[in-house]
Amino acid sequence: MVRVAKVTPGSIAEEIGILPGTELLSIDGREIRDFLDWEFLSAEEEVVVEARLPDGEAIIYEIGRPDGESIGIALEPPTVRRCANRCEFCFIEGLPQGLRKNLYIRDDDYRLSFTYGNFATLSNVKERDIARILEYRLSPLYVSVHATNWEARKILLNNPRVPNIVDQLSRLAEGGIRFHCQMVIVPGLNDGAVLEESLQDLWNLGDAVLSAAVVPVGLTQFSHLYTGQTMNRDKARELLVQVERWERKALAERDDTWVFGSDELYLLAEQPLPSAEHYGEFAQIENGIGAITSLRARVDDGLADLPRLDGMRIGVVTGKAMVGLMPELLDRISSVTGAEFVLIPTENSLFGPTITTAGLLVGADIRRALDGRTDLDIALIPAETINEDRIFLDDVKFDELRDSLSIPVYPSYDFIDILAGEQLAVAA
Ligand code: SF4
Repeated sequence: MVRVAKVTPGSIAEEIGILPGTELLSIDGREIRDFLDWEFLSAEEEVVVEARLPDGEAIIYEIGRPDGESIGIALEPPTVRRCANRCEFCFIEGLPQGLRKNLYIRDDDYRLSFTYGNFATLSNVKERDIARILEYRLSPLYVSVHATNWEARKILLNNPRVPNIVDQLSRLAEGGIRFHCQMVIVPGLNDGAVLEESLQDLWNLGDAVLSAAVVPVGLTQFSHLYTGQTMNRDKARELLVQVERWERKALAERDDTWVFGSDELYLLAEQPLPSAEHYGEFAQIENGIGAITSLRARVDDGLADLPRLDGMRIGVVTGKAMVGLMPELLDRISSVTGAEFVLIPTENSLFGPTITTAGLLVGADIRRALDGRTDLDIALIPAETINEDRIFLDDVKFDELRDSLSIPVYPSYDFIDILAGEQLAVAA
């Protein structure tokens, strides 16, 4: 059963009397278990829906969707499938106490993997889920493989009951499912020969594996479960050598980069990041694969749209990871606009100094960076630090923080979005 949260005005749903709170029970005699069933089974042009109105009245709707018109409902958010693993490197286990509850949910849900690109381990996938993935062709899936070696994977996921991932992927691949895979590398556990085996096994799956990412383990000061070795520059360099060897093979044999080191891996190794061509369609950009290169490309593309901003002093708040890369980017913007940029590298007070990613800075960090600054005309902060409700990870509301500061502050993805925008013209 799924429950209706909203009905679009003027839609088919409103016309036939579906109300918020209506429970949708079956379509054409098939039980609706969740949003996926609704999405796929309601795709037919004519469907019979068994439902229960909020007052308990049972009702059958015969729904026709001329030209595939949307029925016009939004469902209540799904119950997320929880993770049965207990990885030592789990970022959620490394969160400090006291954050909002939903940040602590360890989801491991193939449905969200297909719908939103969340990574899932598939370790809680049952036979009926496999049948469903195949029937609905949930492809591509984003899969946290970490290691294809079964024993190594059990240790990494801290779960002796994980299924064999190679068997799972092979079976799904035979049914036409494709995958973007990642390996989070814990030195001493799944690097070296174990990583070699993983890449070989994924390579053997042919075009079913669309990409394979190698990501160094990232720990916070609260990662209390972790007993592994630390990731450092030399380990990162070793990993990059291995990644680049596989990349050369993939380019030679399949004309495709296929395997990618994460941005973090290049930064740790103190090696230059690849160009945009390397990343192709940036399939794993949300996973930090090519995000910095994409930012550079967007800045280059947007330079021509920027106005002159002579005399303006612009503060840029960022994480420590970007300190080496930002000056070159900001110089380019400065040479076109005439604006002066002041880089404000900021330490993460919530997760500790090991977390240097700009997007994980919290409201308290932004406040500390900008409070009392009157030497700037405006400040830009990473837009990734706030969610769709404009709230930072530490529950600080962006609007309240902005109003408490003495200079205008803008969340920005790539500088161009703000500097070329009308809101800045108003502020200036
Ligand atoms: S699979 Fe591991 S890293 Fe992912 S949520 Fe579960 S315990 Fe955390």
